Parts: sequence; C-alpha cells; structure tokens
Amino acid sequence: MNTYSSQLEQLSRQGNLRSLPAVDAQGLSIVRDGNTMLNFSSNDYLGLADDTNLKKEFLQNLNSRNVRFSSTSSRLLTGNFPVYARLEKRLAELYKAEASLVFNSGYHANSGILPAVTDNRSLILADKLVHASIVDGIGLSKARCIRYRHNDYEQLERLVSESASQYEAIFIVTESIFSMDGDECDLPRLVALKKHYPNIYLYVDEAHAFGVRGQCGLGCAEEQDVIKEIDFLVGTFGKAAASVGAFVICSDEMKRYLVNKMRTLIFTTALPPVNLEWTLFIIDKIVDMQSHREHLEAIGHKVRQALNPLNGAIVSSSSHIVPFVLGETERTVQTALKLQHEGFYLLPVRPPTVPQGTSRLRISLSAGHTDTEIDQLIHTLTKISSGL
Ligand code: PMP
Repeated sequence: MNTYSSQLEQLSRQGNLRSLPAVDAQGLSIVRDGNTMLNFSSNDYLGLADDTNLKKEFLQNLNSRNVRFSSTSSRLLTGNFPVYARLEKRLAELYKAEASLVFNSGYHANSGILPAVTDNRSLILADKLVHASIVDGIGLSKARCIRYRHNDYEQLERLVSESASQYEAIFIVTESIFSMDGDECDLPRLVALKKHYPNIYLYVDEAHAFGVRGQCGLGCAEEQDVIKEIDFLVGTFGKAAASVGAFVICSDEMKRYLVNKMRTLIFTTALPPVNLEWTLFIIDKIVDMQSHREHLEAIGHKVRQALNPLNGAIVSSSSHIVPFVLGETERTVQTALKLQHEGFYLLPVRPPTVPQGTSRLRISLSAGHTDTEIDQLIHTLTKISSGL
C-alpha cells in the first residue's frame, strides 16, 4: 500500500477523513443530497451573500466597462484596475488611516505579510489558536516564533519582557474574534503592552469581526477605539462582506514596502474588477447595517445562554460564532448528522482544524436568521444533546 492510501485509511479510521461536499447554498438555506436545511455553517454573518435586492441594485448600476471577470495579470503588471485605488481609498477613509492594501484573500494576506516584514532579527509571538493562514505565514518567515497560550497575557507579557532587548522587532499576532472558539482577544491590554516597548508591532486579524462589530462594522478595533494603535489590521471580504479578497490597514510607508516585498501580492493575478466593484458596493452598505449587527448580537447572546447548561458543551464564546464542543470526533459527527436530519446544517469541526479531543459543532450565526429559527435550533439541539 502506498503512503498516500495508508494515510487516507488512517484518517478514515480516526473519523477525520475529509471530502468535498456537493452542496448548493440558496439564500440562508443549503441543499445537500436533495435535503434543504437551514445553513448554520457559512460565514455569511450579515446574510448578504444571496440577497436578491442587493444583487439587482449592484447589477443595475454597474458600468459596463467594469464588467470584467478577470484581471489577467498581477497588480504590478496590468492588473491594477482603477477600482483598486477607489476601494483602497474608501477603506483608508473609513478607518481614518494613512493607507490600505487589498489582497486576493485572507490566506494571501496572512501567509504573505509576516514573511515580508520579518527577518532573523525579529520575534513573532502568536496566540496558540491563530488561523492556519497565519501559521503558514509564520512558517515562511525567517523570524523566531513562540506561540503563547490562548489569550494568556501574563505569559505573553513575560515573553515580551524577556525578549524585548534581544530582537530588533517583536510582532504580536492575534485574531480579534477567534474563528473556531468565537471568543475574543483583549485588544486594550495588547495595546497597553505595545506602548511599554518601542519595538512592538501589533498584528490583528479581524476576519470574523469585519462587518459585524463597531458602529460602522469596521471590527473590534473600531468598537474598542484602538484602530490607530494597530500596525497591521487585517480584514477579509469573504465572510460578512459577502465578497472575496482581504485588506490590511497600515501606514503609507508599510503599504509601499509590502508592494515591493510581499510575494503573495506580487506573484499572483489580481482580483477580477467586477468582484472589486461588488466589494466597494457592499462595504458602503455594511457601514449602515447597525440593525443587522444588533440582531446578530442578540441571537448570539440567546444561543450562548441556552447552550451553556447543556451536557457536553463548553461555550467560551462571546460572539456570533458559538462552538458546541463534544470532544470525541465520532460523537460530534453523529450529532451533526442528527441535526442535519432535523433540517439544521451544522458541521463537525475536527482535528487538525481544532486540537485533539475538542471536536465540535461550530454554530455560525447570521443576521438573516430569524428569532423563530434560532428558537427551533435551540430546541432541537437541546433535544438531541439530552439523548446523547
Ligand atoms: N483569517 C481567519 C481568522 C480566517 O478564519 C480565515 C478563513 N476562514 C482567513 C483568515 C482566510 O481568509 P480567506 O478565506 O479570505 O482566505
């Protein structure tokens, strides 16, 4: 047996074999194997991805010159269509920042920024639970890296005080809302730590907070009034913004540096102009969607309260991402199947995406979910988990 097939067999024995599901998302539902289920597994946090009115308005106002489905070139060659400048200007204006830079995806941003801005005189201190795209960026960097225990700021402060004088620069890297646990970092505490040292850069991935938090939906940094203190504020368009791509808010100098040094920006075909136009259109809508954010916050609170006392659940979340941790992979898979049978599309999240022994259902809420649908979900989860 070759090494690939034996590895696949091993994954299958462990219950961790993945395959690509044949699904068709329609509105807030998903169709799989002929069954229509309510989707609690996408990152469409504002419920905009399949909004007919928004799509109609966008298409009606789209200038036919901008209907281009490929840029056919890197941004540094001929792919830098004028819409990039309009989008980056708008983002910088919203964040009241010097500059923003747009990338093809959050994966491109996170795997490309750290290798570009660090060298062997840098130290990266990254939260243990940062996303795989950041882990890959760390892997490509020449810097030394230490992962601190999740949200353990005493350990982080100790590491900083022990190392600050030994490195030219220290990069503290975290997510604002963590993708698999739905809990949050303590931004003011990180900012206070940064202010004690002259050589600390703060890198915050707001992928799950962009669109969702803050008065204008700019993320946790807006909500906590610390935008200016963050050196690399990364956001993505593929979740609440219902589009594709990502951005960093940074200084003008840093933007110029990244344009020269960042391989995942330089050596890839730019985004299609039509997608950039859609992103720009959506961002201006999101700014005014405070009632969507309030509803999302309210249903998040409701689900967390309801799940907290349930057998097997460890709900550390403070957001619209609510993990229902069941531990064993097989039990988690079986629970997900039962929920799907009842019309709720929830998926098991298992190792290596999450640590061994913490397999879970990741409940991903959307502002499009009604109170009735949330009550039905809570009722069904309660019923199923009491019979586990
Ligand atoms: N950062 C975080 C925290 C994420 O959860 C993800 C994707 N789930 C990404 C970055 C990658 O973003 P994208 O999907 O745009 O590549």
